[in-house]
Formats: sequence, structure tokens, C-alpha cells
Amino acid sequence: MNLHKLLLTNNACYKAGRTITPKGIMVHSTGANNPNLKRYVGPDDGLLGKNPNNNHWNTDTPDGRQVCVHAFIGNLADGTIAAYQTLPWNYRGWHCGGSGNDTHISFEICEDALTDGDYFNRVYNEAVELCVYLCKQYGLNESNIICHSEGYKLGIASNHADVMHWFPKHGKSMDTFRAAVKQALAESAAPAPQPTPDPEPATPGANIAEGALVAFKNGTTNYYPGSVNVPSWVISDYYHKITQVTSSGKPVVKGGKVCVLLGKKVKKSGGAEEAGINTWVDMDALAVVGAPSTGGNSATYTVKQGDTLWGIAATFLGSGARYPEIQAANGLTSDVIKTGQVLKIPTK
Ligand SMILES: [Zn+2]
Repeated sequence: MNLHKLLLTNNACYKAGRTITPKGIMVHSTGANNPNLKRYVGPDDGLLGKNPNNNHWNTDTPDGRQVCVHAFIGNLADGTIAAYQTLPWNYRGWHCGGSGNDTHISFEICEDALTDGDYFNRVYNEAVELCVYLCKQYGLNESNIICHSEGYKLGIASNHADVMHWFPKHGKSMDTFRAAVKQALAESAAPAPQPTPDPEPATPGANIAEGALVAFKNGTTNYYPGSVNVPSWVISDYYHKITQVTSSGKPVVKGGKVCVLLGKKVKKSGGAEEAGINTWVDMDALAVVGAPSTGGNSATYTVKQGDTLWGIAATFLGSGARYPEIQAANGLTSDVIKTGQVLKIPTK
């Protein structure tokens, strides 16, 4: 999840300051073709981008309406998906025109033209993760999640169609949504938490080379001297793969530093590989976490809280199913690993 916070403190709903005890979550979508968060969330924090009409909801009555939700999900200026918390979760929102306002945390998914499956999948997954986060925080589960149109059928919301005018176009429904939340809650409840997390999984001295898996060093603020700030989730949630070290045969120098291109990212939890941030980054801001994919000796990795052999294999070997290779390299006879344990990672 890529959760940010920008409270809409100028909105009359925020200023009313009424609180609720959250009993559920209501999922909305905006009903307008504009996938950009900046349409609703502002002012620009450097990630959202500027709203040229300045008609975001951080105003007393947006578009003349008494309306506010607890979060929005949609596009940042750079096209990546984010969730923005816009009200404290226990504030009473104005989102459904019924008694659901007194009981439900609400968020809006920014609609596009409703035909883009890639955008849909990304906001759908972000919404699942946001619900998992909120369920854990408020002791809720998937059965407490409804959409606006379901709220209407229950008599606690006005007659709106969201989100069931959209989800089925992409093979999803509120039932698949609840099932996904249920599964994620079960998976996150499974591993026993262990103390003493390891802060920096770097292997000093390893080469920054094409194919290397790297992490931003602690304390990094910019991609290179003079660049925009690196969003915190880029540092905290992901490893990155170096996909290019030169351009037209020459080193790429930005802000006086030799940079490499981070074209893929790998989720620290679970090891899923995703499209990268595609940004040239100062080599000195990066530390290698695994061996380069070509050549080199085997690397080591210090187990962090929540790691699994499957996830480590997915991150370093490209497939969770290759975890027996890590077992073999370390003489492990079971799949039990401990926080702080140093594992040899075979070269790919
Ligand atoms: Zn709605």
C-alpha cells in the first residue's frame, strides 16, 4: 500500500469535528472520469501535482456540496497509484447521504473511463490493502465492508450505483473484493511476529551493476543532488533492480553524480516484482542487497521480521518456488527461519 496523509482541514466536515466508532467500511467511486488524485486532494504536496482549477475538496463545501470522505485512491502526478487519507479515520464523514455516515469509514476510488483494466487492477488492489489496514486497526473483517450501492439496499445510504457499475466490467464484484480482504487478513495473521528486526539488509562492497538488487541507504532524501525528494514508500516498501547503467554508451551524470536506472521494483514483503520507478539514481545512495544476476560470488542476507524462505527466494532468485536452493546452500532441513539469521543466497 502506498498510503499518504493530507487532511482536508478546510472542509466543513473536518471542521465539524464529529467522531464515530467505526463499525464498517464503505467503498465508493467518484462517478466522474478523472483518475487524478489532485482533482480531489490538495493542495499539491509535490506528489499530487497542481490542480489548475483549484477545485479539490480541501475547501468548505466542494463544488457547493457538503461532502467529504476519509480517503481517496487514484493517480499521483507521476502515474503511480496512491491512497490519501483525508479525514481522521474516526471522524464522521459525509459520504453516503444516510445513517452509514455515523458508522462507516469511507473512501472514494477515482474513476477513469472505466475501460482500462490495468488502472482498475491497480486501484482495486490498493483498495484491498487499505481495507486490510483499516480492518486491523479497528478490529473489523471483510464482512463489515460494503459499497455505496449495497448501503442503499441496506437502507443506510442514498441511491447510488457505485461501485457495482464498474467492478463487474473487470470481472470483479464486492464479493471478490471481500474475499481478497479475507485472504490478506488470514495471510498477515499467520506468521508469528519476532523481535529485533534488522534495519539495513545491505551487503557492503558488492557491486552496483546491471541486474543488481539494491535498496536506498538510510537517510537518503533525493534521487541525486538537486532532484525532487524520494517518496518514503520508495525507500521503505521496495528493493529496486538496476536495469541500465549507461545511456548511449556513456555514464549518466546528474547533479554531479554517476547514476543508474532503477527500472524494476521488488516488494520487500512477498518479493513480487513490479514495474519500476524508472528514475536515474545516484549510485552512492544505493546499497546492494543481493548478488548481481551475472557473475559474482554468493551473497548473504540477514532475515528480517516477517520474512519467509519463499519470499526471500522470490526476491533474490526471481521465484519463490526456488526456496529449496536456499535451503540447500544453508544446510536447512526445514523451512523455519529466524529473524537475524544470516543466509547464504546462491548466485542466480
Ligand atoms: Zn458513493
